[in-house]
Amino acid sequence: MVHTCIVCHVSSKDNTGNVSFHLFPKNKVKRLKWCDALGLSMATPNQSVCSNHFGQDCYNFSLNRKILKPFAVPSLLFESIPELDLSMISPIPSTSRTMHKHSESK
Ligand SMILES: [Zn+2]
Repeated sequence: MVHTCIVCHVSSKDNTGNVSFHLFPKNKVKRLKWCDALGLSMATPNQSVCSNHFGQDCYNFSLNRKILKPFAVPSLLFESIPELDLSMISPIPSTSRTMHKHSESK
């Protein structure tokens, strides 16, 4: 069976390397969640999304296999977008609040 990504139209016929394809969930609620995340109005369980739309944290890695987590939801973001490095975000320095007391003594 040839899979084509509903989002980026990559096909399993193409030489896509390690891209894998995931069929839309048969569960309607879950499927709607996927559609919503991908900005689609509807999709059928016969349509698939390629692994480019799932972050690394959507997978369980076991025995060199990537298994999609049951509650993983794809996103339109391509995996080439670097993941947010939380360590790069420095907390907002707590500026010592300077109280301007306008004590107008006449
Ligand atoms: Zn895709």
